[in-house]
Amino acid sequence: MALREIVTVGDPRLRVRSRPVERVTPELRELIRDMIETMETANGVGLAAVQVGEPVRLIVIETPEDEDDPNSGKLFVVLNPEIVKTGKETEVGTEGCLSVPGYAGEVERATEIVVRGLDRHGKPFRFRPRGFLARVFQHEIDHCNGILYTDRLVAPDRIWEVKPGEEEQVEAEDARRRKTTAALE
Ligand code: ZN
Repeated sequence: MALREIVTVGDPRLRVRSRPVERVTPELRELIRDMIETMETANGVGLAAVQVGEPVRLIVIETPEDEDDPNSGKLFVVLNPEIVKTGKETEVGTEGCLSVPGYAGEVERATEIVVRGLDRHGKPFRFRPRGFLARVFQHEIDHCNGILYTDRLVAPDRIWEVKPGEEEQVEAEDARRRKTTAALE
């Protein structure tokens, strides 16, 4: 396994629309292992292949354990992830990105989605993440389409600098600022 370099904002490679995975090859398996290691080392909750310079539709996600969500704390590896259903309820929450180091900003996302794709062995995968996990899936799938969370800020000024170690505080604040916007169906 090896750590991969994370591509950061300003690099045009982040804006590429990634191509679908066609076969699970040894190279792809190696990429998956490297991405997991890179994400964990960087204390990230998700990573898309394009963020390590590989424009293929592949995401890895691992959110911290949360007693309210039995799917938290699990590792997800999804090839060709696709949102097939988006719930009507949305929530404004704080996001950061390993490709936009040192910043956090507010984005409105659906609180529940249905995701389809393939697991790491190429078997069909269908899953209904909720809450923070749904947010992370939407963020990572955006990466596969060349979209960054900074494109989706609730307002252009709702982004701020974060000092290392302050990210968790931001999350706690976010939980108190939930908002339902049925108007945006
Ligand atoms: Zn990101």
